[in-house]
Amino acid sequence: MNGIYLLLGSNMGNRLEYLREAEQLLIQHGIHVIDESSIYETEPWGKENQDWFLNVVLQIECSKSPEELLTTILSIEKSLGRIRKEKWGERSIDIDILYFHDEIVETDQLTVPHPGIPDRKFTLIPLVEMCPIEIHPTLNQNQMELLAACKDELDCKLTDYKL
Ligand code: AMP
Repeated sequence: MNGIYLLLGSNMGNRLEYLREAEQLLIQHGIHVIDESSIYETEPWGKENQDWFLNVVLQIECSKSPEELLTTILSIEKSLGRIRKEKWGERSIDIDILYFHDEIVETDQLTVPHPGIPDRKFTLIPLVEMCPIEIHPTLNQNQMELLAACKDELDCKLTDYKL
């Protein structure tokens, strides 16, 4: 993988506004956004009976380590009022580190590449849009191959929304 990729998601309140505010806060923390996917409206994964998400993937550059980037992300989630009630429950904003170049991190706080990537169409579809032939550093498949093998049947619809 050549690049750092984040997945942003929201399924509470004004979802588009939460995505926009999260991007602005990332920029305020010295993170450069160099590319962004389309915005997708996606069926909730892991838990039914909650509103659909808006998801977007950002490619960023920063001088932080993966751990420092996670600290920044957690503080942004906190400042946007994310209430963590239950795993996979509804959230004002969720930010995941998908890839950090070819780095592999496995600590109690952080797993990179994000372990959900091969199982989630709402992650793979925007990645295919942005970097179709970049290769996952441990699975050794590119994003198109990962999507072709993905068994996720939840809906992921392209929208006209813009950040
Ligand atoms: P969740 O609310 O399910 O997204 O989980 C958030 C927690 O996952 C954070 O507190 C992180 O410590 C942990 N985490 C582990 N790997 C990652 C990752 N690649 N990106 C973001 N959070 C991660």
